[in-house]
Amino acid sequence: MTEPATKQDSASASAAEHLRLALSMMGKHGLPPIPINYALMYFYVSGEDLDLNEKIDELLDSRSGWTPEAAQELFDCHVCQGDGRSNEALREELLATVANILGMLIDLSGKTAVSNDKLEQHIEKLAHSKDPQEVLSVATDIISETRSMVDQARQFESTLLDTTQEIEQLKDELFNARRQATMDALTGLNNRRGFDEALKEAIGGSNEGDGGFCLLMIDIDHFKNINDTHGHLVGDKVLVGVAKMLHKFMRGNDFLARYGGEEFAVLLRDTPITGAFSVAENLRKGIEKLRLKHVKTGQQIGQVTISLGVACHRKGEQADDLVGRCDKALYRAKSLGRNRTVLAD
Ligand code: GH3
Ligand code: MG
Ligand code: MG
Repeated sequence: MTEPATKQDSASASAAEHLRLALSMMGKHGLPPIPINYALMYFYVSGEDLDLNEKIDELLDSRSGWTPEAAQELFDCHVCQGDGRSNEALREELLATVANILGMLIDLSGKTAVSNDKLEQHIEKLAHSKDPQEVLSVATDIISETRSMVDQARQFESTLLDTTQEIEQLKDELFNARRQATMDALTGLNNRRGFDEALKEAIGGSNEGDGGFCLLMIDIDHFKNINDTHGHLVGDKVLVGVAKMLHKFMRGNDFLARYGGEEFAVLLRDTPITGAFSVAENLRKGIEKLRLKHVKTGQQIGQVTISLGVACHRKGEQADDLVGRCDKALYRAKSLGRNRTVLAD
């Protein structure tokens, strides 16, 4: 059994401490949180009436246990009449305790979701209450509301956590869906749709006075022969190998895409035509040096070459016109013998 607490000077501070101990005693002995049990435990821990404490100890230790009748008898004998304590004195002391708890709750209500309306109702009730049982009943109500508030806060926190996780997941899914919509599945490069969007953006920026940009259109030479000689699957691997090599040459702002089939496109932002031409030549030479071979059989696939058209965006020029000019240059590179770079008019 817990030792009774010594009486302290400050009535309200000790009342708050008694309240805490009384609640803990009730929890320990599994007593229902009804006013009479609370009152008995409250006076038990206050240690003012050792005779009462002895009887409470006996009752808690006895086999028949704690019955509402036995509790009522103890209350009538010791708390209300037995020690001559007036109902008014008891009420005053309990009121101080309850006011203390209310004070803490009001403090909390600024930071949490405690209902101010409810607190006001309790204060109102206490102001008119003359009966200790009623004061205790308010205390019990406050305790159970505080408990349910804590439960609600926990539930809210867990729901919030679940929702946050769901939102994160949805954001990831959305990001992946967006990425997939603009990504080429075979090479992992941007696809035609991604390219169209990037080109539109570059034209918008260029018209608004940002630096100009250049476009490269790239086409693998005689790619049909590779498919015909080694099969379509090997052709796919060649496309992946070429894509990787092109990607190696990309820097910061460059935008590389698979334009379609065995064609690629590059946007070179803030780059003049001379710079774009040298990038194109580097790409061409890089691919030319590639020596691809069949992984399983070790059979040489031979040299792969690309032809390129280079065009610099003119102020106010539409996407189709720019791509058309660049395509024409590429077509000329083909007709001039392939494996070369041609500047657009
Ligand atoms: P050129 O030098 O004139 O460009 O000749 P080419 O053979 O490269 O051009 P053509 O347009 O005649 O043939 C392109 C070939 O690319 C035909 C098509 O089957 C193949 N191709 C397009 N997309 C893919 C693909 O995803 N995988 C494979 N393996 N082949 C593809
Ligand atoms: Mg082609
Ligand atoms: Mg081709």
